[in-house]
Amino acid sequence: MSLNENYPAYLANKAISPNFNLSVEDKFRQKSATKVPLADVAMMEQAIAGAAQAAQPMAELPSYRRQEVLQYCVKRFEERSDEFAEALCIEAGKPIRDSRGEVTRLIDTFRVAAEEATRMVGEVMPLDISSRATGYRGMWKRVPIGPCSFITPFNFPLNLVAHKVAPALAVGCPFVLKPASKTPVGALLIGEILAETDLPEGAFSILPADREAADLLVTDDRLKKLSFTGSQDVGWKLKARAGEKKVTLELGGNAACIIDEGTNLEDAVERIIFGAFYQSGQSCVSVQRVLIHKNLYDKAVAMLTEKVGKLKAGDPQAEDTFVGPIISEKDAERIDEWIASAKSAGAKVLVGGERDGIMVSPTLLADVPKDQPVCAKEVFGPVAVVSSFDTFDDALAEANDTDFGLQVGIFTRDIQKIMKAWDTMEVGGVIIGDVPSWRVDHMPYGGVKESGIGREGVRFAMQEMSEIRNLVIRSV
Ligand code: NAD
Repeated sequence: MSLNENYPAYLANKAISPNFNLSVEDKFRQKSATKVPLADVAMMEQAIAGAAQAAQPMAELPSYRRQEVLQYCVKRFEERSDEFAEALCIEAGKPIRDSRGEVTRLIDTFRVAAEEATRMVGEVMPLDISSRATGYRGMWKRVPIGPCSFITPFNFPLNLVAHKVAPALAVGCPFVLKPASKTPVGALLIGEILAETDLPEGAFSILPADREAADLLVTDDRLKKLSFTGSQDVGWKLKARAGEKKVTLELGGNAACIIDEGTNLEDAVERIIFGAFYQSGQSCVSVQRVLIHKNLYDKAVAMLTEKVGKLKAGDPQAEDTFVGPIISEKDAERIDEWIASAKSAGAKVLVGGERDGIMVSPTLLADVPKDQPVCAKEVFGPVAVVSSFDTFDDALAEANDTDFGLQVGIFTRDIQKIMKAWDTMEVGGVIIGDVPSWRVDHMPYGGVKESGIGREGVRFAMQEMSEIRNLVIRSV
């Protein structure tokens, strides 16, 4: 597996290679794998000016044309799926099987957006609620919000880019995207395919950028919407500086998964292992806190410990690797420090707890004080903490006792408990019979509390990228 020597960036629909100042590492081999341009302030200015000019032509693009562009992308992604998967495997250190899975999701996201592009429907509503409105009719439709800025994280270099780009194309919004500097290649491959289409000039720019240039995506008033996916520290700070833009923040979490009494443990344990250790736990809805009913605790912990100890870790290019590297040595060190801190506070390491450079072994911890970072913060690594609960209400309270709120997973078949969880959990989504990490790409997805604001999932992102425009007609 290898990457091209370099990849161009995209400025106002065109490939540009003014420099190749950003080196992208093969994350497992820890050596440069390719180079891409790094946009400066002048390039970002041009991209924003291009997007502003494209706002009207994009808004006027008929829905069948927007659909055709999205369908074309689907076809080209399918044709180049192996190349895309290998790029992810190298630049993100994502195990090759998961990389292929992400390409499938990229295709799903664009396919759904192609369908939704023709369904931007509004409503006719009666206005004659009192005599003064007799003879008035009302109707509303959605119009694109205008030029958007998108900033994306390292952990899903294709599909989290897709979750912004595909809805923008479906609605008719031009955009400027800054992909994660650690993993820009996925976004640039998407750009290569968009550049083959006849989108209006300026409709899209995809620019890895330095901090000063990226800042324009936050502060420039010509941009009407900022959609950011990344860490909560960065996200909330950017929102505070975004001026009058509409802002969507898709941030982090420390998701809980509840195993209630009566659960089929074989099934739950398999799913939890996937949810906690897939992608080395570098997913915003990774299972971090496993809450187990006291009657099942010993058995569930024994099963988890045995299976976690057998997970295959190592080279992401190997077909049977389940756990790959952490994105950087710095992050691996931080995770290591958090495990050490939990241990010195009395935690028991059931399995794992070791680090070798960028590899952190899949780790299960018990007896962890709740204020330890491995419980209270987002680990973003292959670490899960187990604890037991007495009653289902205790489990819900415990799961809610966090600053975050993305998704929760609950293993129960009891309809009363399901309804109670749905009513009371402070999250964007409650997943019954599976882990919080479960997602398909057209469902509403996002968080509350520190985990963010607004929703993605194609149709829901389209709502965030459009405004309602009302029409009132006096017909008497
Ligand atoms: P990050 O916040 O470090 O970076 C995200 C993006 O913001 C990158 O493109 C980065 O270059 C850019 N950035 C950083 N500082 C900036 C600044 N001052 N101005 C402009 N841009 C700036 O996050 P990361 O480490 O790439 O990703 C991991 C985080 O993303 C985790 O917290 C994870 O939970 C979160 N995440 C959330 C979701 C979700 O949908 N809720 C999905 C995936 C990842």
